[in-house]
Order: sequence, then structure tokens, then C-alpha cells
Amino acid sequence: MRRSLHFKLMLIMVLLIISLMVVVGAFLMNSVTRYYIDDFYEQMAAAFGQDNVDFVRDLQTATEGETDGAAMVDTVLRAYGGVLGVDGRNRNYYVLDDTGRYLTGSAPQPEGGLTITPNITTAILGEVGFASSAAADYMDAAVPITRGGAHYIVYILDNRATARSLISEMVSLILEALVLGLLISVLLSFLLSKTMVAPLQRLTDAIEDVAEGDFSKELEVTSGDEIGQLTESFNAMAGQLESTIAAVENERNKLDTLFLHMADGVVAFDRTQRVIHSNPAAAQLLGRTFTDRDSYGPLFGDLFAFTEVESAASHLAAERTVDGRYLELLLAPFARANQGGVLVLIHDVTAQRTAEQTRKDFVANVSHELRTPLTNIKSYAETLSEGVGDLPPEMERRFLGVILNESDRMIHILQDLLTLSRFDSGRSELRLSRFSFGQVVDDTYQAIRLDAQNHAHELILQLPPSLPEVVADRERIVQVMMNILSNSIKYTPNGGRIVISAGQEGDKVWMQVDDNGIGIPEGDREHIFERFYRVDKARSRQSGGTGLGLSIAREIMTQHEGDLYLVDKDGPGLIVRMELPVGGPKKGKQNEAR
Ligand code: ATP
Ligand code: MG
Repeated sequence: MRRSLHFKLMLIMVLLIISLMVVVGAFLMNSVTRYYIDDFYEQMAAAFGQDNVDFVRDLQTATEGETDGAAMVDTVLRAYGGVLGVDGRNRNYYVLDDTGRYLTGSAPQPEGGLTITPNITTAILGEVGFASSAAADYMDAAVPITRGGAHYIVYILDNRATARSLISEMVSLILEALVLGLLISVLLSFLLSKTMVAPLQRLTDAIEDVAEGDFSKELEVTSGDEIGQLTESFNAMAGQLESTIAAVENERNKLDTLFLHMADGVVAFDRTQRVIHSNPAAAQLLGRTFTDRDSYGPLFGDLFAFTEVESAASHLAAERTVDGRYLELLLAPFARANQGGVLVLIHDVTAQRTAEQTRKDFVANVSHELRTPLTNIKSYAETLSEGVGDLPPEMERRFLGVILNESDRMIHILQDLLTLSRFDSGRSELRLSRFSFGQVVDDTYQAIRLDAQNHAHELILQLPPSLPEVVADRERIVQVMMNILSNSIKYTPNGGRIVISAGQEGDKVWMQVDDNGIGIPEGDREHIFERFYRVDKARSRQSGGTGLGLSIAREIMTQHEGDLYLVDKDGPGLIVRMELPVGGPKKGKQNEAR
């Protein structure tokens, strides 16, 4: 660029100088020629005109009566040589006869004779020949002299050599000036290019840097001219560009982080249906990884055609199950105006679906559990009301006993449900206090002993010599123990053996109940803590169970940051074990004082 601009500058200046010199030269040469011509004819007019009567008269007198009139004319002319400007070299006079033939002159006749010029022809015809021609390379004047029958022509011829030599000198001067001018123009173009091209070059370098993403350089503004303004604008533009790019970069980083950590999966496709972006969540949810070789068709083509998604107004929704997970897919076009493509958002709705199902099951279970006792109450109450006074008192008492029993059962269920709903809504707070864990185990053992005896069970308590005090909600812990124990009594055929043991492990205490009852089949073990879950519904209901006990017990243990689980056991029966942190739940500390 530098060379090109420099070259252009130089070319312009050279052309300028040359054209200037040509114009000036032509004007000068023309002026000089004109000056010489004018001067010649002015001289001639002065010599032969009215003002110089003596000279003409002398000439005419000279020709009169002489035998050699030409010699006389020659003598007069020689005398007036200074007036005519005759020098014998460039300007001569000639005396011609009336036919234009050479008679004599200040110089001998030129070789080949004198040319008969238009002025000589005019003089032959008897007129004064003073016509000038700029085109001719001579100047001449011819004056006819007549006296007493003899005719002569005085012919003055200037070969313009003086003018020519002056002109050639001027040409060489102009050429010298031209060369000097050219040298100056080359020098000036160097200087100009230095002051103009150098800042432009710096700008170019800076623009290249910016194009490569380097915004660190700020150009110094050295002048207030257009280049200075350009530099200033460039600095402003670079600053603006830098902050814009930083903002865009920041935005992209935010988006990248969002993509990386968001729970929803995102897969983006470009116009050619290739994967251009996918996040870890998408890979995890769809159970596969993506590369840029993957395309839309095999992945989501079964849901909607690519073109269908591209032309969608906002988005299209679909569902899919992958590895037992329910996935909701939203397919939407993006940036239709630019390159554009399709974005697939994958949302895991498994938890939602499971929760929905659990809720439905729960409502169905509650309705069912409440209907049975209510139906019983209604039918017994109807029988009683129909046969008032007719029924034997013993039967009436039995019926009323059933009604009371069923009402108790309903109250029991409702209480359990209320407890669970308190847990669910977080309204149930633990009433923490410090008490002896061993004491509580022993108390529960005592409370359940009679019940166990009624079923002819052998109830064994194995307590270590000392157990620490714990911080917990005593009533709730008793509730858990009672449930585990009453289950063992219920689900062990009469005459069974139930062993209660307890102990300490690190900062935890534990209690477990080991029976040799009917146990729980493998497939049911994982569901045993779910609400309303019972292995054998008929048997359980018969023994008054609703399937809520263990789920409440587990909620209580979770609130205490403890645990409740089944322990693997050889042989018949079941081992249920509870664990409790000695120091109480960390989250519930603030309630300890109460
Ligand atoms: P609730 O405790 O509400 O009166 P429930 O005893 O039937 O009713 P859970 O205590 O939650 O309910 O127990 C759930 C189910 O687990 C029982 O229905 C029973 O099938 C099974 N189960 C619990 N403990 C034992 C056990 N020791 N041996 C065999 N099965 C048991
Ligand atoms: Mg129970």
C-alpha cells in the first residue's frame, strides 16, 4: 500500500511538473518569436516609414541617373545599416532588380539564389512587402525603389538565428529546470508519503492486530487533519469493539456455564441437521454421547421432521421413555434470520410422574381403607336400627362392639394420615429431650410383654450393661419401637421367639428386633416402607394393620437423622433395625431447650 500511494504521489507530481514546464516553455517560446517578429517589422516600418523621409529619399536619389544604381543603393543601405539592424550574419540586405534578381547586398547571394518570398512578389508588383509569417523560419521585408525609370527592390532578410539560439537556450534552461523540478518532486513525494503514508501504515498494522483480537494498542493522534480524525475514530471504534466483544464473550461464558450445569438436557442442530452443541445432562438423560457426526434424523426424526420443527411458530412438544425415565422434549427453531437451526430441550419428568402416580395410589388407598370400616359400621348400625328391641341384648352388645372397633380403626387410620401429612408439610417438629436410650428400650419391652404373652411368644431382651443418654423426641422413638415390636408380634405365628437387642456404635445407638415369624419375601422388601404397603393385605387387615406404621416410623427416624432398615437374615423371620445419633439431629438443635 505504501509503495502504491508513494508511487501515485510521485506520478502526480512528475506529471504536474512536466505539464507546467511544457505550458510555460511553449508560452515563452511563442512570446520570444512574436517579440522578434514584431521588433523586426517595427524597425522596418521606422526605416521606410513617414518618419524617416531622408532615408527613402536618399535611396531614390541614389538610383537617379546613375549607371550603377544598385551600387549606389548599396552604399546608402550600408550607411543606414544600423537603422535597419543589419549585422551581415543573421540579417542582411539585398538589392534586387525589378524581377527579384540579385544585384548586390551586405552578403553574397545565397547558394541556389534567393527564394522569391511573397514579400518579394509584392515588391515586384510595386507595393511594399511587409507581411509577416510566424510559420516561416525567416523574417523579410521588400521595398520597391523607383526613380526615373529604374526599378530596384530593397530586400531585408533575417534568418531568425538570434531568436532560434535564444529559444534553444531557453529550451535547455527549461529542461534543466524540469530535471531539477523532477528531482524536487521525487523528494517531496518521499516527504509527503512519510507524513501521510506512515500514519496510514500504523493504522493498517493496528487494524490487523484488531482483526487478530489484540485490542491492547491505542494509536497516538499526532495531527488534527483527516488522518488524525481517522486515527481518533479508529481508537474509538477499537474501544467500542473491545467492550462489545467482552460483553458477548461474557454472555457466552454465562451460557456455557448454564448449559454445563443445567439439569435439563440441550442438543442443538445446525441447518444441515448436524449436532453443534450438547450438554452433559443431555448425554445422561438420553444415555449416549454426541459428536458432530450425529444428525437429527436418527435422534429425534421419529418425533417430528426437521423441517416441521424449523417452521414451527414457537415449539413442538413430545414425550419419550428412556431406561424407565419419562422425558419431556421441547423442539424449537432458533435464529431463523441468521444461520439458524433446531434446539431440543430434554426435561426429566420422572419424579413428577412418580409423584403423580403415588398421589393417585394414595387417594385410592385412603378411600379403600376408610370404606371397609365405614361399610361395616353402616351395615351393623342398620341391622341394629331395624331390629330395635327385637334383638337379643347379647347380639346388640356384639354389634355395638364391632361398630366401636371399626370406628377406632378409622380414627387410628385418620390419626396416622394426619401424622404423615404433618411430616409432609414440615409442620411436625420434634420435641427433643435428653433421656437414657437403654431405659426407653426397657420401658417398651415392659409395655409389650403382656401382648407377647397373649400370643405365647418368647420375648427376650438383650441389653448391654450401659447405654448412653440420647437427645431425641422420646414419645416418637417409643412409637417407632412399639411399631416394630407390634409388627413382630402380629406377623409371627403364636409361640414364636422375639429377641430385642440394643447397643452403641461410635456416636450412634441402635435397637433391633429379630423374630422367627413369616418374614418378608425378597420382592416386597424394598417396598415395605411405602405408605399402605402390606405384603398380605387380607392377613394384615385382619390383624388391624393399614400399612402406614413402618412409613411413619421411617419418617420419624429420618427426622432424627437416624435410620430404619431391614437386616439380612438366614432362616425364617425378619430383623428390623433402627439407628439414632446420640447427639440428636443437627438441624433440630434449637428445639432442645423445650
Ligand atoms: P400398621 O402398622 O399401620 O398398623 P401394618 O403393620 O400392616 O399396619 P406396617 O407396620 O407399615 O403396616 O408394615 C407393613 C407391612 O410389612 C405389613 O403389612 C407386613 O406385611 C409387613 N411386615 C412388617 N413387619 C413384619 C414382620 N416382623 N414380619 C413379617 N412381615 C412384616
Ligand atoms: Mg405395623
